[in-house]
Amino acid sequence: MKTPVVPALLLFCSTALAAPSLEPPKLRLDGSARPLRYTVDLTIVPDRDTFHGSVDIDVDIRTPSTIVWLNAIGLAIEEASFRPDASEALQGRPALPAKPIPGGDQFTGFSFDREVSGKGTLHIAYQGKISRNSSAGIFQLKEDRYTYVYSQFEPTDARRAFPCFDEPGFKVPWQMTLHVPKDDMALSNTPLQSESSEPNGMKVVRFKASPPLPSYLVALAVGPFDAVDAGHVGATPVRVIVPRGKTAQAAYAVAAIPQLLKLLEDYFGIPFPYEKLDSVIMPISDFAMENAGMITYAESTLLSDPARETIDHQRELAATCAHEMAHQWFGDLVTTAWWNDTWLNEAFATWMERKISGQWRPEWHLDVGAVNARLGAMRQDELASARAVRQPIESNDDIANAFDDITYQKGAAVIEMFERWIGAETFRSGVQLYLKQHAWGNATASDFESAISSVAGKNVAPAFNSFLDQPGVPEISVALKCGTKPALELAQKRSLPIGSQAQPQIWEIPVCVAYEAGGAVHHQCSVLAAAKADMELAEARTCPAWLLPNDGEAGYYQIAYQGDLLKEVLADHASHLNVAERVGVLGDLDLLVGAGETPAGVALALVPEFSKDPAPQVVQAAANIAGLLKSETVPGDLRGKGARFVRQEFGERAMALGWLAKPGDSDDTRLLRQKLVPFVATVGEQKDLIQEAEKLAHAWLKKRQNITPEMLGPLLDVAAEFGDRDLFNLLRTAAIQARDHSLREELLQALGSFRNSELAAASLDLLLSKDFDLRESFYPLLFGPLAYAETRGVPFAFVKQHLDSLLQRMPREVGEDYAAVLPTVGGTFCDAKSRDELDSFFRDRVKDYTGGPRALAQTLEGIDLCISARQALAPELTAFLNKY
Ligand SMILES: [Zn+2]
Repeated sequence: MKTPVVPALLLFCSTALAAPSLEPPKLRLDGSARPLRYTVDLTIVPDRDTFHGSVDIDVDIRTPSTIVWLNAIGLAIEEASFRPDASEALQGRPALPAKPIPGGDQFTGFSFDREVSGKGTLHIAYQGKISRNSSAGIFQLKEDRYTYVYSQFEPTDARRAFPCFDEPGFKVPWQMTLHVPKDDMALSNTPLQSESSEPNGMKVVRFKASPPLPSYLVALAVGPFDAVDAGHVGATPVRVIVPRGKTAQAAYAVAAIPQLLKLLEDYFGIPFPYEKLDSVIMPISDFAMENAGMITYAESTLLSDPARETIDHQRELAATCAHEMAHQWFGDLVTTAWWNDTWLNEAFATWMERKISGQWRPEWHLDVGAVNARLGAMRQDELASARAVRQPIESNDDIANAFDDITYQKGAAVIEMFERWIGAETFRSGVQLYLKQHAWGNATASDFESAISSVAGKNVAPAFNSFLDQPGVPEISVALKCGTKPALELAQKRSLPIGSQAQPQIWEIPVCVAYEAGGAVHHQCSVLAAAKADMELAEARTCPAWLLPNDGEAGYYQIAYQGDLLKEVLADHASHLNVAERVGVLGDLDLLVGAGETPAGVALALVPEFSKDPAPQVVQAAANIAGLLKSETVPGDLRGKGARFVRQEFGERAMALGWLAKPGDSDDTRLLRQKLVPFVATVGEQKDLIQEAEKLAHAWLKKRQNITPEMLGPLLDVAAEFGDRDLFNLLRTAAIQARDHSLREELLQALGSFRNSELAAASLDLLLSKDFDLRESFYPLLFGPLAYAETRGVPFAFVKQHLDSLLQRMPREVGEDYAAVLPTVGGTFCDAKSRDELDSFFRDRVKDYTGGPRALAQTLEGIDLCISARQALAPELTAFLNKY
């Protein structure tokens, strides 16, 4: 890990003292001193590069010592002292001066000339930095001509704002006071207590003391904001706080947030835990954070121009708000004791975001979203280098790595599987019990498991832990035996992509099946704990009329259908499989082709039928399978045939839909158009749709001609894929001029979509231009060219040539080190030579990127698997296409 520079602190300490008698901690504080309460006073002028702070920490020093260690990064300590509690024996003595001792890149020690113990107040005055290019600690964002300051402390950056006990287990009250320019608004976790003028155009804003909070949930924001009132939910006042002049763009958020909050209160059976709820908007950023009572959101997630509002945006907004607000109970009111249980916060909130926004808008089919998220997590989890949901934390890199898709999406899928097994209402009682037992305190995964077990009347922990503590995806082979007593023969193993070398293992899997027997539908669950077991179908006397081995497609396992079972599952499927189940069955097959368990021809043979499905989500799942024919695994000379297959199976519907909306289109029609038209244009190489896209894109860029908002992004992407220099210039100018963040995102995405390698290189050069903030341009421009064989080497060549200038412009803090994802520029390589070049370029360099070694290992594994898959699948796909 790269060590952050702390010049001011080192300068001060160079004149300091005798060598400390105690070593600084390695990763965690030792608990010998604990905070009881913080009083923080900060002076923040948004345009400046530094801020001034003082903090008074009421502490309890349980082991007498001459040094107290605190977390601190980049803080220049001006003075420090310890005043013993008035009730202690030292009453009447003056405060003891404390000398700061450097303690590596995460700690500062405060040393005394004699031992201190018991209760007292540690006072520290210091200067800190306001970052301009990262969002770690206290940072600055600009929009129009205004500057705003925000905080982002999770997981380990509160220590950049004040010296503190920066671990989630130290949960105590905080009282915040901010000195800010008199025309700015100042916000924190709690309501205002008082506000008064100060000299020099400043004012002092004092906030009420908070309930117990860990340091990572403390927050502040300063700037010329506008506040939009969103009414009350129960006793809680709700507001959306926007950058100046953006109140009109908050309309949907203002309508959605109170309704979602009410649904959460109902689910938890506990009123919103804090005195107020502000949702504070950050320009440029791409994240949201559940600070207690003061949630921060990326502007592109929460705001939208009412004329450009899309269902996708509404869905993302609702899911993000539900997620962050769910944390107010699950994470804030009850906090995980340490970062090894990050999953408990994040998996729960991810699962809850779909449950609550699905309740709010059932027509959005968020159950299908859950199935697709499970399939996406399984793709990552199949890698030998996948991490477990719950892993021991041995370094700050481990803390940063814990915030990944395995934690969020696999974790959420596992929770959903256990909810289905226990029953939704019982599971909810367990959640409520857990929150009541640990309110305002800390808890662990085993506390959660015991609350669920106590309401379920059985010990769920062994099964739960088998999914949390080991990586990988279980594959269950299922054979239906209809003898005297119909039963399923189940056998489990770890699902592995072709060519993978990972250790075999088994799980305790709650297997839930649905079937029809005796004219009724039955749901049945049992735990598969051994490698093999039979499951009798309790309600069936004869062979069931139909059977689904993964009920609701809610189980975190793949089914390998034996014998004729797949045919039986899919026979007359419209009558017994819902949309999410159809998507799940098709998605599983797609994965099983990659694992060499299902012949590609079997999956592809289903495409003609499901490409005609009425549900757009099912058509999308069929399109994913058809995508096999255009993948790296197909020999180059046969890809034309693959495109023809796509046109034949999907073309007619795509042509009928066209790029332009028609009056009276239903939501499903709009969704289908958005997915199918660009798919057929690009993967099917449908010339009419491509030409139409180019014409419409030019017309829109020149005259902003009317394109339905949800079609603009796909349209510009397709036009760029086949576009020329003229289109490139038009897009670049439009992106520079765009004031709306979501529009700028779409334009940057299109700039990253050129298939012409010279233009792809030109778009990468924009990463070094001052026209765009790197935090907005990084992902679309650097990773866009990976999509095509013609351009997939361009980003790696760019990184090799411009690594130093790129690194200088990127956020490099722990938890936000952009350099860590650089090795993934090789993510679509599929040959040994490129693999070796990537490896030799990054092997030593990634050691300096927080989380970088894992990213390189996963990318290299992905390339190896692609090479194996190409060898194994090419003959099958060739045979299919030659027959076709
Ligand atoms: Zn979260």
